Amino acid sequence: MEQWQKEIRESIDDVETLEAVLGVPAEEVREIVDKYPLRITPHVLKTIQRKGDAIWKQVVPDAEEGRLDAVCSSEDPLHEEADSPVQNLVHRYPDRVLLYVTNQCPIYCRFCTRKRFVGSPGTLTPENLKQVVDYISAHTEIRDIILSGGDPLMVVDMLLERVLKALRAIPHLEIIRIGTRVPGTLPSRITENLCAMLKKYHPLYMNLHFNHPDEITPEVAEACGRLADAGIPLGSQTVLLDGVNDDPEVMKRLMQKLLAIRVKPYYIYQADLVLGTHHFRTRVEKGLNIIKALRGHTSGMAVPHYVIDAPGGGGKVAILPYDTLLSLDEEQVIVKNYEEKTVHYPQPNLASASILSIASPFEIE
Ligand SMILES: *Cc1c(COP(=O)(O)O)cnc(C)c1O
Repeated sequence: MEQWQKEIRESIDDVETLEAVLGVPAEEVREIVDKYPLRITPHVLKTIQRKGDAIWKQVVPDAEEGRLDAVCSSEDPLHEEADSPVQNLVHRYPDRVLLYVTNQCPIYCRFCTRKRFVGSPGTLTPENLKQVVDYISAHTEIRDIILSGGDPLMVVDMLLERVLKALRAIPHLEIIRIGTRVPGTLPSRITENLCAMLKKYHPLYMNLHFNHPDEITPEVAEACGRLADAGIPLGSQTVLLDGVNDDPEVMKRLMQKLLAIRVKPYYIYQADLVLGTHHFRTRVEKGLNIIKALRGHTSGMAVPHYVIDAPGGGGKVAILPYDTLLSLDEEQVIVKNYEEKTVHYPQPNLASASILSIASPFEIE
């Protein structure tokens, strides 16, 4: 057994151990955990500093999860099941698909969008993989696939390679992406063997899940370094969560720390309307203020897109804190910068007269 598999075995995954280690009364959360599984790896446990901190909130079950009366919530708010042409495959956008490789995760995030099925037994079978490959082969418009779940790095190398190899044999599939929380929660899984296997399937991208700067430990930094050294471009996805990261300073530190370990911030998600996760939702103004605090104030590389994944399966919609485009006509564009100053930009291909009428194209009012 590999080190990472031992760590999965040593994880907290029942309410008695949770009570013994973290002092959460077993009876308060037993029913919740029967419905929504629990797993905290030894690595994540080490990063919890006190009851109720940002790491605790993400992984320790809370009685609030049992409140099923929350407005508008659903088990599948993104209607992934309606967009599924083949078991375990979601085809929502024109040129890309998402595949659930397994239901297992290194930790079970209490705010998970796929709370309805993660943690239950289930991994892609050879027959199912064949159906997926047949579907993608028949749909030549598909040029991008995201391996997700669950967490695709929870399966052993041989099985993951079987999936990658089958997908790489499809000529029109240009890129493969892996969405994973493993590097940040079970860094020992990122072995040299895994990296050597992955690099055979380039162009391969990875989007890693991080929500708080305390998740970036030295072990995590090393794991990300091994992936980056294997030539895998790394992005990050963050969920905006009440009491965890709904603060511009916390988010700025997170994004800057990610860049320092060669991870490019990609998305901040507004929390989805998932049953049993309502206590994590924030108002959208919080997200807008976070983007406002980032854009222009720190490296552009550190600024992700802030998106709302439209309830009902409408896809991701990026939103900005202020309207940067004030006006646009044949002659010029007027935009607003991060200091909220207006800037004029003259359009090309105009009669020279109108160009001359603008005293200085870079004038700031
Ligand atoms: C997020 C998502 C994608 C990928 O979206 P990008 O904006 O290309 O990263 C693809 N399919 C589904 C179902 C998704 O939820």
